[in-house]
Amino acid sequence: MPEALKKIINTISLLPWIWEKSATKLAFFLLNTNLNYIEEFKKNLNDLKHKVSKCSICWALTDIEDDICKICSSKNREQNTICIIEEYLDLLTIEQTGWYSWVYHVLWWAISPINWVFVADLNFKKLWERISESNKRVELIIATNPNIEWEATTMYIKEEIERLWLKYKVNMTRLSRWLSSGYIEYADNITILNAIKERKEI
Ligand SMILES: [Zn+2]
Repeated sequence: MPEALKKIINTISLLPWIWEKSATKLAFFLLNTNLNYIEEFKKNLNDLKHKVSKCSICWALTDIEDDICKICSSKNREQNTICIIEEYLDLLTIEQTGWYSWVYHVLWWAISPINWVFVADLNFKKLWERISESNKRVELIIATNPNIEWEATTMYIKEEIERLWLKYKVNMTRLSRWLSSGYIEYADNITILNAIKERKEI
């Protein structure tokens, strides 16, 4: 097998969810495709690494030239309803329902000292600022998955709100257990809408 073909098969097979056979098929597809597509692919890969950054408020992904994402800077969004999510993919899934006009706060990691993820690694500083600076009562909707680490993270948020004397400004709710069998990213619109509609105060 030509060295270049071997190398690309090897590179592709490092991608998740790709079996060795699929890697070979994809390599042949790339070999036979036109050069414009390859150039565009190269450029897009490069842009992916250099032109994506995080919103300085909510930590959602955004274009590098925007300090604040389109949701945080939108006047049509209820800035005092903050949906707390694990990762950006969850934001995309909830937004896809097209139903809610709140804002988000992406944590990216659950607190997990055993995996070297500590409180300071998460985007809490900005969350407390958002609450203190709001001139209305804030609803924090916890839309994370119900496993041990995320439960502990939710407890931390609750305790910290009390410790920082912010409790009088905050209603904390969490999605109903509709999603307990799965993750937000795999849930369909109806399931998500029900979980949000039947959210419970905690
Ligand atoms: Zn944002």
